[in-house]
Amino acid sequence: IQAAGSILYLDNVHVAFDGFKAINGLSMILKPGEMRAIIGPNGAGKTTMMDIITGKTRPDRGDVLFNGQVDLTKQDEAGVARLGIGRKFQKPTVFETQTVEDNLLLSLKGRRDVYAMLFAKRTGEEAARLDELLALIRLEARRGDLAGDLSHGQKQWLEIGMLLAQDPKVLLVDEPVAGMTDAETMQTAELLRAVAGAHSVVVVEHDMEFVRALGVKVTVLHQGAVLAEGSIDHVSAVQEVVDVYLGR
Ligand code: ADP
Repeated sequence: IQAAGSILYLDNVHVAFDGFKAINGLSMILKPGEMRAIIGPNGAGKTTMMDIITGKTRPDRGDVLFNGQVDLTKQDEAGVARLGIGRKFQKPTVFETQTVEDNLLLSLKGRRDVYAMLFAKRTGEEAARLDELLALIRLEARRGDLAGDLSHGQKQWLEIGMLLAQDPKVLLVDEPVAGMTDAETMQTAELLRAVAGAHSVVVVEHDMEFVRALGVKVTVLHQGAVLAEGSIDHVSAVQEVVDVYLGR
């Protein structure tokens, strides 16, 4: 695989915890604007992979490059975030006592000083971006409501909107549809499809209906390495993948 022209490049990455090989020769390449779904059984190394990309876990060996050249293994979490790699953890973390709109505005303004920001006037540019984001995450009608009053699914969308407000190059999303209704799950697939292209997206998810709805290339992890890669139809026909999911 080639680092040139990639937005994320992992080559032969290894991480062991007390001798246990959580990541064992993992290679993956993501192109700018691409969305990729990562699946795999519990313990496959999905979270550890995200931790490596975001500078939370340092690999023992292997290359992890951003934009074909920036060595992410030399960055801490804050440095990775500054490069434009945003991460959405599984649980929503919105400011429940602030309105939907102010949550987005805080992210747009960069969260430097929460109080100053809330009382500061929004610029015309910010107001326009706010409207765009609210439309994208389908929360226009809830803009004045407290984030704490949103449904679980709506909080997840708001947090995705907050990450987008920071205009990340890469968005890493960890199990976004866990706990969502079927309708919310399908709307989340639509939202992420709308986000890809302008942003590169990596989605870790167990929900196969959702992964199918994303309609993107799937990477199957197992024992810290790639077991199969391709469309959902392709990977679900690979015998090794079937065996792993059936626990054989
Ligand atoms: P997944 O997200 O695919 O379920 P993880 O990346 O969380 O898998 O874990 C991969 C393996 O590494 C698991 O067996 C897990 O127990 C182990 N592991 C993950 N993080 C640590 C850690 N900090 N210390 C020890 N073992 C860990």
